[in-house]
Amino acid sequence: MKERVAVPDVETNDNHSVSSDDTAHSTATQGGRQPALTGCPWHDVNEMLQAAGLRPTRQRMALGWLLFGKGARHLTAEMLYEEATLAKVPVSLATVYNTLNQLTDAGLLRQVSVDGTKTYFDTNVSAHHHFYLEHNHELVDIPDPHLAITQMPDVPDGYEISRIDMVVRLRKKR
Ligand SMILES: [Zn+2]
Repeated sequence: MKERVAVPDVETNDNHSVSSDDTAHSTATQGGRQPALTGCPWHDVNEMLQAAGLRPTRQRMALGWLLFGKGARHLTAEMLYEEATLAKVPVSLATVYNTLNQLTDAGLLRQVSVDGTKTYFDTNVSAHHHFYLEHNHELVDIPDPHLAITQMPDVPDGYEISRIDMVVRLRKKR
């Protein structure tokens, strides 16, 4: 059987000292079975989809491969649609939106909204905050995961804080 090998150089180093992505992916699938990740994007996307209870359709596989095959990324639906078009993946923008929302609901992606209008989908679902570069509308991870608000607001009775999304907006110095 001819496997489609689209793997650009999978690193199989024994120490994964700088990689926090692996744990991010496995913690994303709460409840479901743990995907057996091998480092091969095609195989891993299949595993991730199935572990999340999503049928690995051709379109989900192709979009998942674009999303998860290149490390941690922040993409809008339009950006992914453009990549899919360039990669000759036959999908509509509506399908891209639906797929991104399904992957988010399944815990494989995290939504980060900027300005209330721009929504980015983050392949890194672990707790972290972002810089937003205003001049080119780019979202960048803040490397310090321990960044914290020193004074938390009082939460109304019956509620607890589910998550804090911090977006620090940056502009170029003049
Ligand atoms: Zn991020």
